[in-house]
Amino acid sequence: MLKYNEPMSKHCSLRSGGETSQFFQPVDIQELSAFLKSNTKPILMVGLGSNLLVRDKGFKGVTVHTKNLKELTISDNSIESGAGTSLAKLSRFALANFKYGAEFLSAIPGSVGGALAMNAGAFGSEIWKYVVSVKTMNFSGEIQDRFPGDFEISYRSTVHKNSNEFFVSAVFNFNLEKQNDNVGELLKKRNSTQPIGLPSCGSVFKNPKNHFAAQLIESSGLKGYCIGGACVSEKHANYIINQNNATAMDIEKLIAHIQDTIKQKFNIELETEIIII
Ligand SMILES: Cc1cc2nc3c(=O)[nH]c(=O)nc-3n(C[C@H](O)[C@H](O)[C@H](O)COP(=O)(O)OP(=O)(O)OC[C@H]3O[C@@H](n4cnc5c(N)ncnc54)[C@H](O)[C@@H]3O)c2cc1C
Repeated sequence: MLKYNEPMSKHCSLRSGGETSQFFQPVDIQELSAFLKSNTKPILMVGLGSNLLVRDKGFKGVTVHTKNLKELTISDNSIESGAGTSLAKLSRFALANFKYGAEFLSAIPGSVGGALAMNAGAFGSEIWKYVVSVKTMNFSGEIQDRFPGDFEISYRSTVHKNSNEFFVSAVFNFNLEKQNDNVGELLKKRNSTQPIGLPSCGSVFKNPKNHFAAQLIESSGLKGYCIGGACVSEKHANYIINQNNATAMDIEKLIAHIQDTIKQKFNIELETEIIII
């Protein structure tokens, strides 16, 4: 399905941002590959839009929505998932098949593809810890098998030497034995300390070495500080909430204000986790 001038606010959890010239939601990998063979426009991959902000002027290219690439299969001990599967679904599927370790993914409201791109993590675990291999597609629609060693993987970052490849699926090996962790309790605690249900992108900034971004922001007195419709959450200072029809510009100005304040007060540069297009 191809749409034109689609508002990206409909596809980003911040519920803000400009339009994409074209919005393509392939039914499967074959349709995506065929589309890319004749495409000449820049590509933006989007999963669940939970870490993404498209500037108000929009994106002059094709946004590819991976929503339908959501097949989930199990063979022997491995689980294969399409890039568009939600992490919550993958987590439930693993547990239903007596595979353990994926529970932390249920805390992250993203897709498998977005989580691979971000090296998403929670409660001390990260998605790449469980990846056996991935299938990538390049902008010409060709598929390759890649392995963790092909990527530079670090805190909330995954870099591949071929920047024109994106994820279409991944194979995971989760644990065969139940871990003695307390993810259930951690999830409960997290829901009480984070503004779940309000439009946000989760943590806006990466934690600087030896610091917590939320703590730095809170101790600068910025909780509740707003620019336009965008506000620093009262509940969790590393969250920006779209409180009142915030534009992408409001959000970016607030991000810049927080960065300036933290630099002045602590001489620390806060790096964004959110991807701004
Ligand atoms: C309430 C809330 C809580 C959150 N908590 C956490 C947390 O605990 N830990 C954490 O790590 N994150 C957290 N996040 C952030 C976010 O959920 C993760 O970064 C998630 O992995 C993003 O997945 P997505 O599908 O939404 O990606 P998107 O937002 O759609 O995209 C994010 C980036 O990935 C790229 N991308 C998307 N799909 C693909 C693909 N198939 N191939 C290549 N690149 C792709 C996009 O181009 C973009 O650069 C939270 C967000 C919210 C709103």
